[in-house]
Amino acid sequence: MHAWLTDQIAEGFAATFRIGDTLYDHRSPYQHIRVVTNAHFGRMLVLDDAVQTTERDEHYYHESLAHLALCAHPRPRRVLIIGGGDGGLLKEVLRHPVERVIMVEIDAEVIAISRRFLPAVCRGAFEDARAAVRIDDGIRFVAEAREAFDVILVDSPDPKGPALGLYSGDFYDGLRARLAPAGVLAVQSGSPLFQADLLRTIRALMASRWPVVRTALVTVPTYPGGLWSLTLATSGADPAAISAHVLGAQIAGMHLRYYSPALHHAAFEVAAAVVAEIEQGAPHARAGSTLP
Ligand code: SAM
Repeated sequence: MHAWLTDQIAEGFAATFRIGDTLYDHRSPYQHIRVVTNAHFGRMLVLDDAVQTTERDEHYYHESLAHLALCAHPRPRRVLIIGGGDGGLLKEVLRHPVERVIMVEIDAEVIAISRRFLPAVCRGAFEDARAAVRIDDGIRFVAEAREAFDVILVDSPDPKGPALGLYSGDFYDGLRARLAPAGVLAVQSGSPLFQADLLRTIRALMASRWPVVRTALVTVPTYPGGLWSLTLATSGADPAAISAHVLGAQIAGMHLRYYSPALHHAAFEVAAAVVAEIEQGAPHARAGSTLP
């Protein structure tokens, strides 16, 4: 008899995965950490019963979050990642000629487990001399650090436990203090289908601090509903309006598996109508409330 993992994102909807083997199962001081296998997705990192990343589809999410933002900046040198303990986002950032990447992850156990069980996801990123890992609360880091960053990426889980504060005005005030004037901020902003209130909240937190806010929609098969939003903010250039030529030059030689200039434009284009409905509070867009 097989065990099943159920990732419930809202009342009335969940994604369920049959578990092959359980490679790790432990409660850290912050969360319940599991690494399990599934016939379709390979090894899966699961935190508090929510799928974080899998060997099979990690690149859909990590390439999208990294390259939508980094390609929107003319010359990203200093990058900050909040969360991202599996190392998949760090791996993608390091494909660019950045000088320094600071990754602030609250739970050292997630990094240790990802290095041990998910080498196909982090691919040696933690060993790159340009990468500096800080075990800290991202909320505290952005409030207390003095450094400015060209690109900030927030790769957080859903708003619960230690991640709850990553969806607060204080945290976004800290992000504003840390983002360089021509910088690009990109955050994981949840499911447009089941977390409309979360997306609205994040967009409002950004719109009250930056003049340009753009949401993109990308495919992440193992995130419930398969459609996921990433929201970007800048003080200047519109990340959706960069030419395919410039985008192509930014990723030349990277041999990516999902992101491309065409995907970059399509991700913002697809989002426009969906976000308009959510902002207008269309009935079906009110489904699902994940904010406590
Ligand atoms: N891509 C995933 C998603 O979209 O849900 C997130 C992946 S990553 C594993 C999320 C990381 O955020 C976890 O390792 C967790 O420990 C970390 N995290 C949660 N709250 C945090 C905080 N306040 N500061 C820093 N890291 C935090």
